[in-house]
Amino acid sequence: MAECNVCFRHCHIEEGMYGFCGVRTCRDGIIVPGNYGKITSIALDPIEKKPLRRFYPGSMIVSVGSYGCNLRCPFCQNYRISWSEEAEQCSSQAQYISPEELCRIAVAEKTYGNIGVAFTYNEPLIFYEYVLDTAVLLKKENLKTVLVTNGMADVSAVNELFLYVDAMNIDLKGFTDHYYENLLKGNRQMVMDFIREAVKHCHVEITTLIIPGENDTDEEIFELSRWISGLTDGEGNPVGRSVPLHLSRFFPKFHMTDRDATAVDNVYRLKTVAEQNLKYVYTGNC
Ligand code: SF4
Repeated sequence: MAECNVCFRHCHIEEGMYGFCGVRTCRDGIIVPGNYGKITSIALDPIEKKPLRRFYPGSMIVSVGSYGCNLRCPFCQNYRISWSEEAEQCSSQAQYISPEELCRIAVAEKTYGNIGVAFTYNEPLIFYEYVLDTAVLLKKENLKTVLVTNGMADVSAVNELFLYVDAMNIDLKGFTDHYYENLLKGNRQMVMDFIREAVKHCHVEITTLIIPGENDTDEEIFELSRWISGLTDGEGNPVGRSVPLHLSRFFPKFHMTDRDATAVDNVYRLKTVAEQNLKYVYTGNC
């Protein structure tokens, strides 16, 4: 048995068993990612699709995903690869791609405008060892590493990543503990600490999915954007006002079909609220 320290759950995992995320496992008394290099999807995407709007706009990026997640968002768009029950089935269908091979693919795709590799689709921090091994190789080839993440990891557990990651899109899914704990089975403070640290090391954009009746009040988005505006870089200089925020429209999905899609007008109204604190606010799915 060993304890995983990647996120707030601190799962105690028996030999050969898995933690809550469905991927971290105990082998010979050591916690390792059972999905190391196991890729369920790979595509060459426009960087704007991540979404990143202010990081090499117009470029393409090789985007890969594995399976597993340490959150349980009932509206998950990628539940087939994220939720552990379904993710277990992905394990046998995944294709092993070594860090060396992934780097070779990224280099080969340069001719199509590729700038690096984005770890996305499922939560990349739960196999941060694979991300790190690949990112080291990408850096040597002058290619970028991008994470699209829920940010729910202990900074001290994954801090080596900050030396190699060039950009992140991090979800800040709402701005109340109640929402994070009860609906998403997560921990808001851990995400905020992660964002605070990430901004000191790399380009960061933030995404909030607007769910009717959950996180869509003017007050909540004002407070969320105000907190972002107070972020500082590694020297303590204020940079938060320039951190881009993406407000995305929700569509009924998976376990959350009891409400309509977010009204487009509401997303645009919340954009103007957030713009009181931030320079760059974008809408998504509108
Ligand atoms: S990353 Fe996975 S195994 Fe580790 S503490 Fe979080 S849920 Fe548990």
